[in-house]
Amino acid sequence: MLKLTPENYYSIETDWDYMSFSQFKNFEECEAKELARLKGEWEPTKKKSTSTADPLILGNYVHSYFESKDAHEAFIEENKKELLSSRGATKGKLKASYKLAKEIITSLNADDMFAYFYKPGDKEVIVTGEIEGIAWKGKLDSLSLKNGFFCDLKTVDDLHKRHWNADERRWVPFVEDRQYHMQMAVYWELSKQTFGKDLAPLMFAASKQSIPDKMAIDFESEEDQQLMREAMDKILANQDRYRKVMMGEVEPKACGRCEYCRINKQLSDFTHASDIEVD
Ligand SMILES: [Zn+2]
Repeated sequence: MLKLTPENYYSIETDWDYMSFSQFKNFEECEAKELARLKGEWEPTKKKSTSTADPLILGNYVHSYFESKDAHEAFIEENKKELLSSRGATKGKLKASYKLAKEIITSLNADDMFAYFYKPGDKEVIVTGEIEGIAWKGKLDSLSLKNGFFCDLKTVDDLHKRHWNADERRWVPFVEDRQYHMQMAVYWELSKQTFGKDLAPLMFAASKQSIPDKMAIDFESEEDQQLMREAMDKILANQDRYRKVMMGEVEPKACGRCEYCRINKQLSDFTHASDIEVD
């Protein structure tokens, strides 16, 4: 098994050795797509438009700022084509679509609670462990071991936007839409195995509204605890199957709807007009 380092953490090589929250979610979405990604046979199409910010890059801009000056500069250098304007009077300056990242940073920088909980912690701490015989990896955005908590930092469109959960046919907030109870449950478990300590999972979320909103979130309510247990049960119920898909022992299921599935789609049957599924 490869030893995890900051350099290889996000590599496909280590994805073969360790399951992660994002990989598990990918498998839930479409097993065929995730297997193709792991085999290097397919990668998500990069967005072509430059008029809107890539959410991942915007999020990482904010993250790297609070990690360290060096990390932030390295991040900008690595992504300068996407981030910086290449022409005219604004050449070399942050593109308008990414200026929001600066607003978010300013808002968080001015916050005492963020300064107390998030800023002093160790950044980008890799944690590993075993969940029922399967190796997992995770990365804590900010860890305060001696104070007994870790924090994750999220950027979202709007903290109070509603998201449709098609399975449960109800509206849910972003934390449920993105399955953050699962991420927190996994990180709690991995940090316990890595450090032998029961750490409180915390989250700071900032919105991408022109005047950013922010929120400090804990997972301590009875309902949060229940959602974390249910998320862990879901992992236990499905991770063996995903491992078997990776090992070629069972055929991956194709969702039939994602980008990967659409590429090679061949019609083979009629759908009754009255049976078209909606989310
Ligand atoms: Zn699919």
